[in-house]
Amino acid sequence: MRIITHTCTQCGTVVSANELESSRVMKCPGLSCDNVLRFAELPEEERRFFLEHADQYEL
Ligand SMILES: [Zn+2]
Repeated sequence: MRIITHTCTQCGTVVSANELESSRVMKCPGLSCDNVLRFAELPEEERRFFLEHADQYEL
């Protein structure tokens, strides 16, 4: 299965797309980082792939 992740632009913390998709907007989980990550920041191609295969990402 293809793993889709988003990397925080400020601290480099990697967040999985399904975590992002479930909340759409989330505060970066990185220590002492208050960057806000958005599902919409993923490249369009990755978002489309994720949404088309969303059932495979249920954990
Ligand atoms: Zn961060």
